[in-house]
Amino acid sequence: MLTLDTPIEYVLGVGPKRAETLTAELGIRCVEDLVTHYPYKYIDKSKFYTIRECTEDLVYVQLKGRILQFEMRGEGRARRLTATFADGTGFIELVWFKGWKYVEEKLRVNTDYIIFGKPSKFGERLNIAHPEVEVYSEKNLEKNSGLQGHYNTSEKMKTRFLNSAGIRKLMYTVFSDREFYIPENLPDEIVKNFGLMSRSDAMRQVHFPQNFDLLRRAQARLKFEELFYIQLSIMRQSKLRDMKYQGFVFDKVGEYFNRFYRECLPFELTDAQKRVIREIRSDMNTGRQMNRLLQGDVGSGKTMVALMTSLIALDNGYQACIMAPTEILATQHYQSISEQVAKLGVSVRLLTGSTRKKEREEIDEGLRDGTLQIIIGTHALIEDTVQFKNLGYVVIDEQHRFGVAQRAKLWTKNIRPPHVLVMTATPIPRTLAMTIYGDLEVSVIDQLPPGRKPIATYHYFDNKRAALNGFLAKEIEKGRQVYVVYPLIQESEKLDMKDLEQGYQSMVEAFPKYNIVMVHGKMKPAYKDAAMQRFASGEAQIMVATTVIEVGVNVPNASVMVIESAERFGLSQLHQLRGRVGRGADQSYCILMSKYELATDTRKRLQIMCDSTDGFVIAEADLNLRGPGDIDGLQQSGLPFDLKIANLATDGRLLQTARSVAKELLERDPELGLPEHSMLLRQLQRLQKGNVNWGSIS
Ligand code: ADP
Ligand code: MG
Repeated sequence: MLTLDTPIEYVLGVGPKRAETLTAELGIRCVEDLVTHYPYKYIDKSKFYTIRECTEDLVYVQLKGRILQFEMRGEGRARRLTATFADGTGFIELVWFKGWKYVEEKLRVNTDYIIFGKPSKFGERLNIAHPEVEVYSEKNLEKNSGLQGHYNTSEKMKTRFLNSAGIRKLMYTVFSDREFYIPENLPDEIVKNFGLMSRSDAMRQVHFPQNFDLLRRAQARLKFEELFYIQLSIMRQSKLRDMKYQGFVFDKVGEYFNRFYRECLPFELTDAQKRVIREIRSDMNTGRQMNRLLQGDVGSGKTMVALMTSLIALDNGYQACIMAPTEILATQHYQSISEQVAKLGVSVRLLTGSTRKKEREEIDEGLRDGTLQIIIGTHALIEDTVQFKNLGYVVIDEQHRFGVAQRAKLWTKNIRPPHVLVMTATPIPRTLAMTIYGDLEVSVIDQLPPGRKPIATYHYFDNKRAALNGFLAKEIEKGRQVYVVYPLIQESEKLDMKDLEQGYQSMVEAFPKYNIVMVHGKMKPAYKDAAMQRFASGEAQIMVATTVIEVGVNVPNASVMVIESAERFGLSQLHQLRGRVGRGADQSYCILMSKYELATDTRKRLQIMCDSTDGFVIAEADLNLRGPGDIDGLQQSGLPFDLKIANLATDGRLLQTARSVAKELLERDPELGLPEHSMLLRQLQRLQKGNVNWGSIS
C-alpha cells in the first residue's frame, strides 16, 4: 500500500536506479516528495488543431493524422529522420535528430496518431521536431483530454525516461492506487472557515485537473497550506526562543556613548540614524535577547549605528564584535572606527585571516581577559580559538554574505547569546521582511546623509564606447576616479576572465597617461590589497575589476561606475555596485553598458536603474520581476523550508491571511497542545527535518 512515506523506489515503475536519479536531481525520496513536485505549467489538451491552422507562433499544437512516408535527409550534424504527416488539411514534417531506431521501430505509415509539439519553420516548411506521438485510440484520447500538467526535469532524468511525460506517468501510478490516501494536515476549523478544498482532492486536482476552476481552487488550497506552515514555524520558533533565552539587560547609557556623542561625532547624525539607535537602545534593555535586522541603503551610514550601539554594550561592561564579509571591508571598518574612538581610550583591534601569529595571540588574550573591548574582523572571528570574557553584542555587516551556520557560531561565545544586529544594504520590502523573518525586528535607515546628489545613471550600447571614453577622460581630468566592473560568474569563469583582461588591455590603450589597476577574486590577497590601495590612495585613476568591489569599498573620490555586460547582473547587484560611487559631494555617474538585443525583463531592469536610486523601489521592482526566490540574500537566510507552489511576490494576500490565521492559532494554543492541533506539530516536524532552524539562531 502506498503512503506519503513510501520510499520512491517502491513505486511501480521506479526501482533503485531511477529512484537514485530522482533523489539526486530533484531531492525526491518518498511519495510525498513526488506528489509535491507540482507541474510548472498546464497545457490544454482538449483542443485539436488542423495542420492548416498551424503557424510557428503557436507554442504547442495537438494534431491527429497519419504518417505518409519516412525519409533520411541532410548530412553530418544536420542529418535527420523526417516523416510527412497529413490530416486532410495539409502536410507538416516531423523531424528527429536522434533516436531514429526507436522511431523506426515504433511508428508505422498509414496508422492514425495523435502528435503534440511546437511548430517551427525550417526554410519554407513548417515542422515539429521531436514530437510526442501516441496511437490514436479511445483510451489515449480519454487520457489526453483536459488540462495536462508539465513537470520540470533535467537532461539526466530524460536519459532515464523521466521526462515530463515520465513523471506524469508516475503521478498517475500513485493516484490510481485505490488505497493511496493523503491525510488532511490543516485543522477542520480552518478548512471550513476558508472554504478550502481538502488536501487529498487538491493534490489530485493539481496533477490531474478536471477544469481550470478546480485547478485554481486546488492551487489556492496548497499555497495556503504552505504559507500557513511557514508562518507557524517562524512564529513558533521565535516564541520558543524567547522562552529559552534571556537577554542581557543593557540599562545604562554611560560615559562612552555620551562622550562619543559630545566630543567625537564627526558629523550630525541623520534623523533616521538617531531613530534607529533609539530603537536598538530600548530593545537592549528589555531582558529579551535582541534580534534585529538593520536595513539601510548603500551609504546611509550603518557603520556609525554599529559603532554607537557597540558603545552602549561597553557602557554596560560587555564586549562588542563587528564581523564583515571581506578583509577589505573589515579593514575599512577598523580604520574608521579606531580613528573615531581614539579620544575615548577604547581598545579596538582587527582580526582577519592575515593577522600575524604574535598579534593574534595578543588579541586572543585581550578578548579573554576583557581588556580588548571592540573586535572587528572577518570569518576569523568565528574560529573556536576566539574566546571572549563577556561578549554582549554582535554586529554582522552585509549579513547575507554569511552562511547561517557561520553566524550561529558567534551566538555561542557567551553563556547567554549576545544581542544581535544584522545589517544589510540589500533592502527587502518591509512586508516581505516581516513575513520571512517572523518576529525579527526590522529597523530601517530611510535617509541618506545630507548633500548627496543622486547618481545619474545611463544605459548605453557598445556603439557609444568612444563617447564613453571621452566622458571618462573628462572626469579623470577633473581629478575624479573611475571603476569599470565586469561580471564573473562561476559557470562561465574562463570566458569572463578573458573579458576582464581584454577590458583592462583596452583601457590601458585608451588611457595611456593614467594608472590603471586590475582586481579580481582569484588574485593573491597581497596583490589584490596592493592594487586596491593604489586606487584608494588616488595613485591609480581607473580600477578594472570584477564584483569583488561590490561590498563596502569606500573611495569617496571615485565618481564614475561603468558596469560592463550590465544585462548579466541582477537588480540588487547593480544597485550595490552603483553604491560604490556617489560617496563624496561631487555629482556621480553610473553607466550601464549592454549588448543590443535584450530580453524584455532585462530591458526593464536596466530602465529601473536609470529611473531610480532608491534601494527600496529597486527591491520592490526586483521582487515583481523575478520573484523572491532570486533576490540576493533571501536565498541563504530565507525560509524554514522551500516553497514549492506559493510565490511570495504574487501571493501576498494569501500570505497575509495565512499569517494572521497562524498568529491567532498560536495565541490560543502556544504549545500546540490541543488534540485538534497535534497534526500541526507532526507536519512541522516533517517539514523541518534536515533544515537548519533559522528562527532560533538569528
Ligand atoms: P553604509 O550604510 O553603506 O555602510 P557607511 O556607514 O559606510 O554606509 O557610510 C557611508 C559614508 O557616509 C561614510 O563615509 C560615513 O562616514 C558617512 N556618513 C555616515 N553618516 C553620516 C552623516 N550622518 N552625515 C554625514 N556623513 C555620514
Ligand atoms: Mg557598510
